[in-house]
Amino acid sequence: MPDEASCRAHLESQRWNGKPICPYCNNDKAYKLKDMKTYKGMYKCANKSCYKKFSVTMGTIFEDSKIPLNKWFIAVYLNTAHKKGVSSCQLAKNIGVSQRTAWFMLHRIREGVKPKEDVMLDKIVEVDESWAGGKIKNKHKSIRDHAHKNNLNHIDGRTGFVGYLQREGELKLKVWDLNKPLRDQVKENVKPEAVLITDGYPAYVGLDKHFEAHETVNHKKDEYVRGQIHTNSIEGAFSHFKRMVVGTYHSLSPKHLQAYCNEFTFRFNSRKMKDADRFNITLQNCSGRLTYKDLTAKV
Ligand SMILES: [Zn+2]
Repeated sequence: MPDEASCRAHLESQRWNGKPICPYCNNDKAYKLKDMKTYKGMYKCANKSCYKKFSVTMGTIFEDSKIPLNKWFIAVYLNTAHKKGVSSCQLAKNIGVSQRTAWFMLHRIREGVKPKEDVMLDKIVEVDESWAGGKIKNKHKSIRDHAHKNNLNHIDGRTGFVGYLQREGELKLKVWDLNKPLRDQVKENVKPEAVLITDGYPAYVGLDKHFEAHETVNHKKDEYVRGQIHTNSIEGAFSHFKRMVVGTYHSLSPKHLQAYCNEFTFRFNSRKMKDADRFNITLQNCSGRLTYKDLTAKV
């Protein structure tokens, strides 16, 4: 797609399937505004009580951006096709923008691939928790006590996260909310009919009453696999995630960590898809805005 017009046409075909939809009233009849200088890519809703003007980028991550769509498309492609994503420095070089702009674009793309609905996992689900910077349960007791007493979900700039992986199904990664018992967080993400597999961390004790079954692997006794009872799949996903994020960003606020979790889960869950399909799915789901102010606001 060499220019703005061809990118716009492609985005229209992906988002609207040939029929412009008014973002104000959801009407699917609209007139194309012909004056290309003033109304580039603009439509006018045909609903008499609406009549508002709109374009295909309205309400998407591309809205109100001075960056041309073809540069945005390259950014989306690089970010979704590469296993580890693309860094803002690399993207800045590739498309000729400042590193700051590239950083913001990547955050908008993460906003676009954020799961639109919270699916409850089912069947066999492996659950594990980790710490951006190492497992909290491997930290010194005084650090753990300090974190739990003060309800911190990040210590020394490190943030905890919890992973849920349905075997042959979806992965979910959530920032660990230390204001809430870990058990409750598991219940919010996994159906009660599921069989749960975790390690022996005491925070999981008692979950057998809520779920169909709760199997544990005792890592302290060097027990890692007992037939189907293991947490190798979620640990494998964690190690990919850590190579992508934790290695590069040693200190992440909970807010930014969740954005990286979203980016990683999108790529992980679509890993069997072809790059072109993954790219188009990203365009179809490109709703969601993120302003620079929101992004840099203190959490
Ligand atoms: Zn309308």
